[in-house]
Amino acid sequence: MDEDERYSRQQLIPGWDQFKLDTSSAVLAGIGAIGSYVATVLVSSGIKKLTIIDFDTIETSNLNRQLLFKDEDVGKSKSETAAKRLKEINPNIKIDFFHKKMQDVSVSVYEQADVIVACLDTFIDRRWINSMAVRVKKPLVMGGMFAFLGNAQVIIPHETACFECQPLVPEEELAQACSPFGEERKKDRKEIEIGPPLPAVAPLSSIIGGIMAQEALKLILELGEKLTNYLFYDGLNNAVTIIELEKSKECPACGEMYKLEQIEFVALSTETVKDFRMRLMLTYGLEKPDLMFQGKILDIESFLEDAIKTDKAVIFVLDKNLAQPIKIVLQISD
Ligand SMILES: [Zn+2]
Repeated sequence: MDEDERYSRQQLIPGWDQFKLDTSSAVLAGIGAIGSYVATVLVSSGIKKLTIIDFDTIETSNLNRQLLFKDEDVGKSKSETAAKRLKEINPNIKIDFFHKKMQDVSVSVYEQADVIVACLDTFIDRRWINSMAVRVKKPLVMGGMFAFLGNAQVIIPHETACFECQPLVPEEELAQACSPFGEERKKDRKEIEIGPPLPAVAPLSSIIGGIMAQEALKLILELGEKLTNYLFYDGLNNAVTIIELEKSKECPACGEMYKLEQIEFVALSTETVKDFRMRLMLTYGLEKPDLMFQGKILDIESFLEDAIKTDKAVIFVLDKNLAQPIKIVLQISD
């Protein structure tokens, strides 16, 4: 087959560089409804290599929207079956698959990608892939859906807001841990129970999958504006809302301060936050520091013991005289 002919229509687009696609690779985490669509687009468009990661098997209830799968596939591996179908669509593409949890795939697989695309349905998995993208410093395209509602976002680690910088993740989810940077945070990570099945339809997955695939292509081709804010789509009312996101310095995944060296302090149970702050001001020559615990600034009138309610709490000290926060491990003695 004439490969120039295959890609001839997209090459009519100003700025389209097929060579860039032909030398790029993507990792796709999750090949359900949205993932099937993203994979089909990337493979049809002529990306060099696609790596699919999914440990799931195909169920009858997937067939209304997971367009790469047929009746006869029920019970088979999603990643393997998708790889086979995608090879039929475009035999020129190198397609690897891992029928595994993404957490069990070697870091080197993520490191080698030019872009990571995550089509995952749980917060814990999204948080994990986000922290992996931050760790290997690769652009991440994320998205999800619920019935006729969908969202999409592009994350450029250390440049734009990551999944955890944004205020849209429920706080109880943020309180859990999955950053590969922090072993102690990892330890108290709770497993989220897989809840009841979520409502899902084909058109929404094609729309969100289409936006995500488009963002992945734009990243590779270095075309247009990146969707680094949060796009929210309501299919029932044909409404698109873009929520502006800001990168957060206190972010548990991409914030700098979680990597700092820590300093140990002992405080008395009778000390207030104000008393302790005064000590820090004298010790470090600070002007008016804020003390932050678990992402919140402590009320200076409260007693330290009441404010932090845990032994060996990690507190960050923020002050305009500091180029970066001071990380303190605080022990309270009676
Ligand atoms: Zn972040």
